[in-house]
Amino acid sequence: MAAVVIKELCAGCGVCAQMCPLGAIRVRAKTARVDGALCDECEECIFACPNGAIAL
Ligand code: SF4
Ligand code: SF4
Repeated sequence: MAAVVIKELCAGCGVCAQMCPLGAIRVRAKTARVDGALCDECEECIFACPNGAIAL
């Protein structure tokens, strides 16, 4: 399993993409997306997201 973004809660702020140590998150069209092939489930993005929009 990789981290997943709950689109309805994501504001597209990009904080998660800045925090991800593996560069697994990109923001497009104001929604973050996780590349499941790169994510190692470190949970940094989950703690960083101000909207609680990322889960495992
Ligand atoms: S930190 Fe949260 S609200 Fe901001 S882009 Fe990432 S998932 Fe969306
Ligand atoms: S769990 Fe870690 S590796 Fe996966 S997307 Fe979030 S910050 Fe990146």
